[in-house]
Amino acid sequence: MCENLSFSHICNSCQQLFLTPSLYKRKLPSGIEVISFYKYDEIKSLLHTKHTDLGFYIYKIMAKNSLKKFSTTFNMSESIAAIAVDDIVEDSYSHTAVLCKSLKSKGIKPLYGKLRAKNRLSYSGQSREFRLKNPRDFQLLNFSQSSVILVDDIITTGSTLSEAITVMTKNKKEVLFCLTLCDVSIK
Ligand SMILES: [Zn+2]
Repeated sequence: MCENLSFSHICNSCQQLFLTPSLYKRKLPSGIEVISFYKYDEIKSLLHTKHTDLGFYIYKIMAKNSLKKFSTTFNMSESIAAIAVDDIVEDSYSHTAVLCKSLKSKGIKPLYGKLRAKNRLSYSGQSREFRLKNPRDFQLLNFSQSSVILVDDIITTGSTLSEAITVMTKNKKEVLFCLTLCDVSIK
């Protein structure tokens, strides 16, 4: 982003300048809240590193500035599971697993490989109708915690998170809320 010498992929002053999070809230039709930290346009170029070698480091930096900070303000006596939406490994890492891992704290335990989509069609640039016609078809593996935070990088129509919530509910898990890096609907 700048010419400063830095040991991180984004120097500290750029992180402060570009990655100071906001708190955006949106309600899904189920009534469950989705909390996001950035506008899509603010981090668009960073999200585009997802499928490159840089992506792992960039997602880690974004998570440190947003989800990780959020997790330190969170105080719950029971253990909550943080579950990434479809944390399948692509390009040597899983970008949603990186986000999920950053939530590790006293009350939150990140779990991996629990919620995987059987439908691997790309939703990128597709309409709401297309998304609804081609559901993710999530498969949920069992875990002990009964309360869950769902984690994803982007919320667009919300259909993926809604589908994930339905699967959780069917399996007697309570989704407390969802966390995403950015919300495309915030302008
Ligand atoms: Zn910089």
